Amino acid sequence: MSSTQTVASDTPRRYQLFIDGKWMDAESGKTFETPNPSTGATLAEVAEADKADVDKAVAAARRAFEGKWSKMSARDRGRLMYKLSQLIDANSQELAALETSDNGKPIRESQYVDIPQVVENFEYFAGFATKIEGETIPVPGQMFNYTLREPLGVCGQIIPWNFPLLMAAWKLAPALAAGNTIVLKPAEQTPVTAMELGKLIQEAGFPDGVVNIVPGYGETAGAALASHPGIDKIAFTGSTEVGKLIAREAAQNLTKVSLELGGKAPNIVFADADIEQAVNGAMMSIFFNQGQVCCAGSRLFLHEEVKDEFLDNFKERASRMQVGNPMDTATHMGPQVSEEQLNRIKSYVEIARGEGATVLAGGEPPQLEGDFRAGYFFQPTIFSEVTNQMRVAQEEIFGPVVSVITFKDEEDLIQQANATIYGLSAGIWTRDITRAHRFAREIKAGVVWINTFNMFNAASPFGGYKQSGYGREMGKHALDLYTQVKSVWVDLSGKPMGWFGK
Ligand code: ADP
Repeated sequence: MSSTQTVASDTPRRYQLFIDGKWMDAESGKTFETPNPSTGATLAEVAEADKADVDKAVAAARRAFEGKWSKMSARDRGRLMYKLSQLIDANSQELAALETSDNGKPIRESQYVDIPQVVENFEYFAGFATKIEGETIPVPGQMFNYTLREPLGVCGQIIPWNFPLLMAAWKLAPALAAGNTIVLKPAEQTPVTAMELGKLIQEAGFPDGVVNIVPGYGETAGAALASHPGIDKIAFTGSTEVGKLIAREAAQNLTKVSLELGGKAPNIVFADADIEQAVNGAMMSIFFNQGQVCCAGSRLFLHEEVKDEFLDNFKERASRMQVGNPMDTATHMGPQVSEEQLNRIKSYVEIARGEGATVLAGGEPPQLEGDFRAGYFFQPTIFSEVTNQMRVAQEEIFGPVVSVITFKDEEDLIQQANATIYGLSAGIWTRDITRAHRFAREIKAGVVWINTFNMFNAASPFGGYKQSGYGREMGKHALDLYTQVKSVWVDLSGKPMGWFGK
């Protein structure tokens, strides 16, 4: 049974910047609009941060870092984070509806994936606040040597539009647990839930300036943050292209950087796989979140022996997917996030045809009715007869578009699977456990899924090999991105040092 949800109000919402615990207009007075991608109607009008506002936010974050926040006990820090997780949980229905209205993802995904994982991440890292410890090192002689694990200071965090609130949580939670302060820049396409988070951060009682939120455009607010000499670290999730720009900006001040970038994941089906399960997995790997997922299984490698059976089943399932109103609980796929993304996907259909691939399913927008005719919808799309060298197999399309490549030989398969600039994730479907684990070792990717896909947990690290970035988010490894180690030496002998004392 399906039901349709709505957001509280149909008139556009208004948001100001959140700096130093206060809501304020941009210095320039400028605002920008964020549309609902399923109709194109304005969802919210948002203050547009620029360099002057980023300067203010960084200064506020510095004051908070040097002031109250660093004096607060780890336990109290953890309790604030735990309180925030509970507030998010209590507001989950509204946050899910807003996420779907701003991003276009199906309400079932916002409700059962995005928001619960936001809660999980804040809860998980709340527990870590009291467990960040140094070590004692057994150095020789009458010496005592220990380490302190300290926060970095002010962290800039730039996040994308595909999982707006969840990406904020992946970045904020470990940074806060470790005692840093933050300037967060949400994506211009999807600022709404980050601004709602600001309200809950205030309500939870975080000291002013610990978290500052500056919505705005990448080339202005984002670039001002990445190149700011007053930040100690920049964390970024987004395209590999922008990741390179950010690393270049950060290099001017040697600001520490972590990057979670694009992918072109191989999803591999062997002849001995449970085909029904593998088809399910392939659907989930490429059509979840309209394919706007950096770890999406966008290169589907099928063993020649099962190719026909698999594709018949896959094509039939893809064509039965419900594409439309994302607020309807029966919808599998909503609109792409923006017209720009929609046009990008359309251009890849032309590229695929030009390269000699076959459009086996989809390939165009669906026919929808009423207001949804103005939305940025696209059908689930399968390209077959693809070879790994084609652009559609090498470039990240970031839409519900999968390229099917067939294979015979395992060695050749591994070589092809690794023949990409990316290395974020990979999937394999087989009943042969030795093959599965052999593959897990041979594939150059930060995450491997065996007989499953798109599994995440706050305790499990996520991040890329090669040009998919560096650093691991989630799990205890995320704390390495937000702490630095200080080594302290103490002389226990009381004697003068070496020959200088003689
Ligand atoms: P996409 O191309 O999929 O929209 P981007 O990588 O461009 O993804 O965007 C991810 C985030 O990076 C967004 O918050 C965006 O505003 C920001 N961004 C884009 N360009 C820059 C830039 N030159 N400097 C800093 N941030 C940027």
